[in-house]
Amino acid sequence: MPPEYDLVIQNARLRRAPASLVDIGIQAGVIASIAEKIAAGASRAIDAAGSLVTESFANPHLHLCKVYTLQMMDEQALQDYHGADMGKAMTAIELAARVKENYDESWIIVNVRRAVEEARRFGCTHIRAFADVDGQARLEGVKALIRAREEFRGVVEIQVVAFAQDGIAREPGAADLMRQAMALGADVAGGIPWIEYSDADMHAHIEFIFDLAVEYGKDVSMLVDDAGDPGLRTLEWMSLAAIRAGWQGRALAHHARAMALYPTPYFQKVAALLKQARMGVVTDPHTGPLHARVRDLLHEGVLVCLGQDDISDAYYPYGRNNMLEVAFLASHLLWMTTSADMETLFDMITVNARKAMGLQDTGLQVGAPAHLVVLGKPSVLEALRCHEAPRWVISHGKLVAGDGVE
Ligand SMILES: [Zn+2]
Repeated sequence: MPPEYDLVIQNARLRRAPASLVDIGIQAGVIASIAEKIAAGASRAIDAAGSLVTESFANPHLHLCKVYTLQMMDEQALQDYHGADMGKAMTAIELAARVKENYDESWIIVNVRRAVEEARRFGCTHIRAFADVDGQARLEGVKALIRAREEFRGVVEIQVVAFAQDGIAREPGAADLMRQAMALGADVAGGIPWIEYSDADMHAHIEFIFDLAVEYGKDVSMLVDDAGDPGLRTLEWMSLAAIRAGWQGRALAHHARAMALYPTPYFQKVAALLKQARMGVVTDPHTGPLHARVRDLLHEGVLVCLGQDDISDAYYPYGRNNMLEVAFLASHLLWMTTSADMETLFDMITVNARKAMGLQDTGLQVGAPAHLVVLGKPSVLEALRCHEAPRWVISHGKLVAGDGVE
């Protein structure tokens, strides 16, 4: 008789019931059973030895086409983006564009593989990955990311965002390239409306991205209000466009750093619109001096999650696709240090991040896809404190990293 389970995780501690240990049986990529003791046969068993077993990590925001390009560009970009008031954020983006003069799929894919291998090692099984689409990058980044998506399918799932980094109105040819990127097989239509020069162009940018997404039946991701200017309004306009397009629950906002400076009545209005649009916010407080108002958004019941954003590029020098490290940094930067805060941070890199990416069956429960990590630590506190690679990583029910895994 064939064994009942492909894999059994023994002596697992679950976040919601830490007092006792359970076994988790996995069959055909799905969590088939959670019980005090699983006696049935398994092709393979691993012993969690009382350590925490949770949903694997998800990274809903990564500029994957630019990873490890820091050494290739002018350090001036980093200085401008990190200037205390973010007054020169736009200049930084223009400087960072210099690296794209030599954009080519052949070297981008090498960097991409390295970063996705890091994700695998650190238990991050889902990534929403941005590829620049503009006159310089052309479709080189999109092609590299689509290639990586196919190579890593079943291990690390990559959603490729075709991202109009330099704008639509101000970048000649960008609209055509965006259409081509969607036709090539990009999974998400990505915009950055605040970068345009006029309000009219920002509106047109948002409309263009939603039209494209609706035409291809894809989700939307946009970098909004990413500078130290309280007058930026593109998060509001994006929520309104999502509602108008009937794309509720299919649009995701990123950065929204100007929110830190919004007057409170305006913040309340935007929070109400985000809920109407069922639109989440991905924040990354480690990559800039301003960040979305995480506590206030959570208080209003808005979906908030954390993203890695960058790995060694013009905007951020570090990063390993280690979402525990991202949450550890956020804990300091957001002053979220109580045990309740830590649980929230952990949700922001697991279940909330998955929800933001449009994934179904996000929790650790019977019937859900088995994307799990065995952390080698007994609690969320210890996991965050050490932010080490998990002992084992399970994707689609298979061991993909950890002890004894090639
Ligand atoms: Zn970003």
